[in-house]
Amino acid sequence: MRISFDLDDVIFNMKPLTMAAFERAGCPYTKMVAWDMSDIANETIIKNLIQLWSDDMLYKMPVLDKGIPHIINNLIANKDMEILFVTERRLKQPEKTYRQLRDAGINCSFEQVYDMPGLKSDILVNLKPDIHFDDSPNVIKGCLEKNVPVVMISNNSTLYNHHLRGTVEHYPNLRTALIKKGIYTPQKTK
Ligand SMILES: [Mg+2]
Repeated sequence: MRISFDLDDVIFNMKPLTMAAFERAGCPYTKMVAWDMSDIANETIIKNLIQLWSDDMLYKMPVLDKGIPHIINNLIANKDMEILFVTERRLKQPEKTYRQLRDAGINCSFEQVYDMPGLKSDILVNLKPDIHFDDSPNVIKGCLEKNVPVVMISNNSTLYNHHLRGTVEHYPNLRTALIKKGIYTPQKTK
């Protein structure tokens, strides 16, 4: 089974980075209600966001769920599974994304990280995952159109994707999605 993951707002919490970008631009932070950043933010905020993504703050981005690195490491260790990380940051610097994943305690190899130019849904068409997890409405729509099996992460922090809830399977977080899809079985604690 080949499983691919988006990073921002699926594995990593984007909020501190977005808040810092607003702060640098001298604007009050507003929750993203639309995916198109230009709807809610000016170019300064976007530029700041790109800078923050590319500097050390990237490596300090918290994971959304402290248990997720452990869960993903179990999947990576499973010989029946192939795990890929596919991001659409404007950086196009997979070395940095790789380092970020490793720093977060995820035992991936560089070959498992995809941060490349082009439309993510097209990249996914080529990678042919059996399932892809994402929060981006553009990616979700692209996957639906191109027959890439996709599950949406949708919660109170992702107001920008709620309009797609009726068209795609969705769960509030990655842990729940992995359990519901039968990919991960939680171990009983004594
Ligand atoms: Mg994302």
